[in-house]
Amino acid sequence: MSNIKIKSKNLNVYYGDKQALFDVNLDLNEKEVTALIGPSGCGKSTFIRCINRMNDVIDICKVTGNIEMDGIEINDKNLDVVSLRERVGMVFQKPNPFPKSIYDNISYGPKIHGKGETKSELDQIVENSLKKSALWDEVKDRLDEPGTSLSGGQQQRLCIARAISVNPEVILMDEPCSALDPIATAKIEELIDELKKTYTIVIVTHSMAQAVRVSQKTGFFHLGKLIEVGKTEKIFKNPDNKMTQDYITGRFG
Ligand code: ADP
Repeated sequence: MSNIKIKSKNLNVYYGDKQALFDVNLDLNEKEVTALIGPSGCGKSTFIRCINRMNDVIDICKVTGNIEMDGIEINDKNLDVVSLRERVGMVFQKPNPFPKSIYDNISYGPKIHGKGETKSELDQIVENSLKKSALWDEVKDRLDEPGTSLSGGQQQRLCIARAISVNPEVILMDEPCSALDPIATAKIEELIDELKKTYTIVIVTHSMAQAVRVSQKTGFFHLGKLIEVGKTEKIFKNPDNKMTQDYITGRFG
């Protein structure tokens, strides 16, 4: 039985008058990949943004209910959001390296969080992060070049290296392969498989094949409700809910 890393209880999210999530109860297991699937606009991104309090930056957004990490309430007004985001990293749909060198893209976070004091410590963090994101061999001789000079797939691995550099516990991935070609996608999927040995991963994906390939648990959302959640194999082979069945067989969405 896996440990629960993150637990949401009756989580509701509103954008102004519009409710985007309805009483979501979802457990994410430690060192596993959980995939969130469902038609566009069903609340998948809204859910993952609750985990690192990214919804805070949206003025009209209100969150009620509970979401805990290791038993600590993430919605607590007194929680230090900077250290929460150190523990919960995020990778976005479109690779978004800073307009800086490959090296600086990765050393920036550790510097801000006071993690690399000396140049040699930072060098080590940069090397380790790039190795963990399976990019080191491709970039070790060009660390001073701009991050934006890399291919799309390499840029996304750079963004993963950047997320890893501050030593998080959880990595949120919001459709991380949607801008990538199949070969770059396969590399990211392989990487996710490796990363789950160390990190708890949540991936939003519109690709059911990807959910099957990378995740152990899958949650299906529809119109802001978590319709069904369970082992990925079960969700895709033998779901309990007819809506899940219709969605995975392409009948809607
Ligand atoms: P998904 O990730 O499944 O595509 P989202 O979480 O992005 O869904 O969106 C869920 C609902 O919340 C949608 O109806 C969307 O229009 C709304 N929404 C998302 N972000 C905002 C925002 N910043 N302001 C207002 N409404 C939003």
